[in-house]
Amino acid sequence: TQPVHVIGGGLAGSEAAWQIAQAGIPVVLHEMRPIRGTDAHLTDGLAELVCSNSFRSDDAETNAVGVLHAEMRLAGSLIMACGDRNQVPAGGALAVDRVGFSDAVTKALKEHPLVTIEREEVTGLPPAEWGRTIIATGPLTAPSLAESIGAVTGADALAFFDAIAPIVHADSIDMDICWYQSRYDKVGPGGTGKDYINCPMTEAEYNAFVDALLAGDKTSFKDWEGTPYFDGCLPIEVMAERGRETLRHGPMKPMGLTNAHKPTEKAYAVVQLRQDNALGTLFNMVGFQTKLKYGAQTEIFRMIPGLQNAEFARLGGLHRNTYLNSPVLLDATLRLKARSDIRFAGQITGCEGYVESAAIGLLAGRFAAAEAKGLAPAVPPATSAFGSLLGHITGGHIVSDDEPGKRSFQPMNVNFGLFPPLDPGAIVRPEGVKRFRGKDKTIAKKRAMAHRALADCAAWLGDSDFRQAAE
Ligand code: FAD
Repeated sequence: TQPVHVIGGGLAGSEAAWQIAQAGIPVVLHEMRPIRGTDAHLTDGLAELVCSNSFRSDDAETNAVGVLHAEMRLAGSLIMACGDRNQVPAGGALAVDRVGFSDAVTKALKEHPLVTIEREEVTGLPPAEWGRTIIATGPLTAPSLAESIGAVTGADALAFFDAIAPIVHADSIDMDICWYQSRYDKVGPGGTGKDYINCPMTEAEYNAFVDALLAGDKTSFKDWEGTPYFDGCLPIEVMAERGRETLRHGPMKPMGLTNAHKPTEKAYAVVQLRQDNALGTLFNMVGFQTKLKYGAQTEIFRMIPGLQNAEFARLGGLHRNTYLNSPVLLDATLRLKARSDIRFAGQITGCEGYVESAAIGLLAGRFAAAEAKGLAPAVPPATSAFGSLLGHITGGHIVSDDEPGKRSFQPMNVNFGLFPPLDPGAIVRPEGVKRFRGKDKTIAKKRAMAHRALADCAAWLGDSDFRQAAE
């Protein structure tokens, strides 16, 4: 059988290679370290964790990443098996001994009879003779490969920095204060004239907000990141530094908007949120990319009227990060539409985090292995954590309706906002709880989503044509 090639032995590439080999298909894993390093990796181990040693919450009842852990374990994940074997105490989180973890992944792949590891930099797109290939070279993809990818995707479709605005769970926004309206009621293709959620500010609220932005704790760029400011993408606090009125004339301008609750009162400034996913469960804060520290972001953004109880699906950031405009470029099983012998996996597809990257590697590996066996790859159900994350990457986002052509796809961790809403009646009131609302109801909702996800994922794995075991 012709081997599948995997480029990049990080979190995604290691998992993909394992899934392919466990399905009985030979695989060649190309990893450039130690021949060539990256700005963040320090070792030559496979699946090196470049920063924290945490896989985050292991709670598969009420936490979306915990559900993803559970689904990966069901699917025979190497990353999860090695993580579990190298666990260190961390409360409800799964944290690992990073050296033991990376050693275990490296050993499992080295010893697998169907895996060949080549230590070499792949400097361009794989030649057609390689056949099926998965590119999993991560946020710090080596420049010459990145350049070749950009040549086939178009330069606009490959980003080298993410400028991320915070994303809010829609059901945590106070609609007694906010209202739906597009600026000047403009109706774009597919729009309604009411596509934004607007948060009004008085002059005093605006001034207090600008003061808080200026005083808030910020993270600095690493030396190797450079300072990636470019027009139209300045961090919100940098705009505030340029003058007290700058934001009011930029992303917070109040023009073309009328407060539906107080039509005669003119807002001094307005924060707009734009729908972020097709389900309408998530909204992003328009123009609010930021280098504020996470704690400061939560505190300061909750000063915005209507966001006082906001729950954030993700906070803002600005980092060096190579990633594709995947919803446009990739098909439903992660194949490059322009070259169907190539799949992408990991953070380069626009997921974020160790676990999510490994999960997308797992799916890409299974899809490639199924094809190598002459089977049609089956995508995971949309209700599972796998399916929700894959949906975000391959099509679940919304293209901005009033700024045609503007890319709105941003990297994201797995979260319940990506899961399809529950059927009515699926949220079960726990025994003994009398007043079923607020926090109790939110937990019951998460629990119902988690149970649905795991049941549907198990059914999908049971139905697939091959099963893989991690041991
Ligand atoms: P990687 O794990 O980076 O693996 C890519 C691999 O491809 C590397 O081994 C690299 O050497 C190799 N490679 C690159 N180009 C080539 C080439 N041309 N030929 C051959 N091999 C190549 N996530 C978290 O969950 N928690 C954190 O604390 C965290 N901190 C981070 C800090 C930094 C500075 C960065 C950059 C990222 C951080 N992330 C964190 C994100 C994390 O890196 C990714 O989520 C995860 O490692 C991505 O997995 P991946 O397999 O896609 O890429």
